[in-house]
Amino acid sequence: MHVQCFIFQITVTAKVVKKIDTVQQEFSFNRKMKRTTFISADATAAIQLTLWGPEEQILVDNCYKFENLSIKTFEYTKLSTTPYTNIMKCNEIEDVVDKTLIVCKGVTVVTGTISGATIEIQHKCFFCKNLVTINDDIKALKCQSCNKRQLVTTVLKDVKTEIAGTTNNKNMET
Ligand SMILES: [Zn+2]
Repeated sequence: MHVQCFIFQITVTAKVVKKIDTVQQEFSFNRKMKRTTFISADATAAIQLTLWGPEEQILVDNCYKFENLSIKTFEYTKLSTTPYTNIMKCNEIEDVVDKTLIVCKGVTVVTGTISGATIEIQHKCFFCKNLVTINDDIKALKCQSCNKRQLVTTVLKDVKTEIAGTTNNKNMET
């Protein structure tokens, strides 16, 4: 059984600076899906981005707002589209990290060191969308803004991430 659980859904605005490869990923029951690996970057870091489905959805050198990407940290942090991802082209992002510092070894991305992603989860009222405070000990809460009671499990989660990176010129070989 193959169970995939996307815990963090994040929204990222980034420039796609490089395409690494496209492979046909095979799943059980002869299902196949195209998987294209890109490098996306903003002013702070470059990060691997995996696109599932038609690769034409993303063009190198364009900037996009990606809503509902999953973020995984395993050896290094990477982003991936999910069935819930929206991709919207957006205005040019100035000040992207220097493209020449992006070096790829296989699919391992070496862009200096991505020192980590800080993930901040905000909880919002299911009804009025204002911020609420969650306490692990309680199962239900009353929104301070609209006074509606709701189960903690129905409270909306809004995940913000900040990906921090530093460049390390010593490892660059281009
Ligand atoms: Zn409320």
